[in-house]
Amino acid sequence: KEITLALIKPDGLVGNYSDRIKDIILESGFHILRETALQLDEDTAATFYVEHSSRSFFSSLIKYITSGPMWVMALEKENAVADWRALIGPTDARKAKITHPDSIRAMCGLDLEKNCVHGSDSPQSAQREISFFFKDVFSG
Ligand code: ATP
Repeated sequence: KEITLALIKPDGLVGNYSDRIKDIILESGFHILRETALQLDEDTAATFYVEHSSRSFFSSLIKYITSGPMWVMALEKENAVADWRALIGPTDARKAKITHPDSIRAMCGLDLEKNCVHGSDSPQSAQREISFFFKDVFSG
């Protein structure tokens, strides 16, 4: 089976969406392989989002993602990467409310930045991201 990384970002926790999101995860057939609460410092967040380091929104993204604790999960299921991306919906939560009203970002997100959840965008990034938070998952 495939594994993906899911984050409930600080705005998702502050808005008390964790239980509803976890219900959706379990109802959709994912197994939660690992989970933990964690607040990133700025250096660690910059490493996690290194692919965006040259973007204009980078410093704002780092400030947002370090603004409070997140809930970090490794989710297992066949086709976990694509299925979790489909459940969370488009990056821009404002658009998600119109085009994907049943998506998680439509439910708990605010805009293009504050979109309350994250999902790995490929099996390769899932492996990198899961190793980033859960060192032991791929070591047996
Ligand atoms: P994620 O990687 O968090 O699942 P994504 O793959 O849909 O989201 P990316 O393009 O990888 O989106 O951007 C990573 C995160 O950076 C987004 O989830 C969002 O919080 C923030 N972000 C992306 N684009 C912008 C932007 N133009 N302005 C502000 N924040 C942005």
